[in-house]
Amino acid sequence: MKGPKSGAVWPAHIPRWLHPALQCWWPGTRWATDASKAVHVTFDDGPEPSITPWVLDQLDAHDMTATFFVVGAQAKRHPALLKEVISRGHTVGGHTMNHEHGWHTHVEAYVASARASLGGSGLFRPPHGKVTREQCLALRPHAQIVMWTVLSGDYAVHGSSGAAKVLQRLKRHTRPGSIVVFHDSAKCAEILRMVLPEYLSWLKGAGWTSTCLEGHVHAEN
Ligand SMILES: [Zn+2]
Repeated sequence: MKGPKSGAVWPAHIPRWLHPALQCWWPGTRWATDASKAVHVTFDDGPEPSITPWVLDQLDAHDMTATFFVVGAQAKRHPALLKEVISRGHTVGGHTMNHEHGWHTHVEAYVASARASLGGSGLFRPPHGKVTREQCLALRPHAQIVMWTVLSGDYAVHGSSGAAKVLQRLKRHTRPGSIVVFHDSAKCAEILRMVLPEYLSWLKGAGWTSTCLEGHVHAEN
């Protein structure tokens, strides 16, 4: 699934002081957690056979867990892979059925697609980070809307110089409680293979880990 313009209106890093204002405009959204020794690595757009199994092995090797925001159509195409993600201790959330763009989709159609992609999860991430206030209000009773603190930018670069840029950005902005976005898609596989092992090792060296997000709906926002 493509996401080339995901970061077009979003900066690489969303500072904590902005979160209350963002939650006021987009009710039901979460941008970080209060974890003190953990970050929350997340992967969008899978499950994808050419990269997701490798991602699972990397997480295992570092003894970390993550949250996978799956596209419903991909999950239907690869049900065994989706099961494996769950059986290996990770959390799964919805990412719409066909990677719909919230700003270009009517509220009812968007919410129907988002809810259909949840598969029992209480977590949802809008594709491209593009969701309207009305869509948030309609989704809030059904799922927590998980945004992010740090965008890796894995979808926007190529080659080893691109990977170096992504790593630099991740290391500069990662804090405890950060929600960090990667993509387990065929398009981002090349960058992910260059970036993820070093990033997870760097987390470990800093005394941190990655844990999956809680899969239930929180009442506080
Ligand atoms: Zn996406």
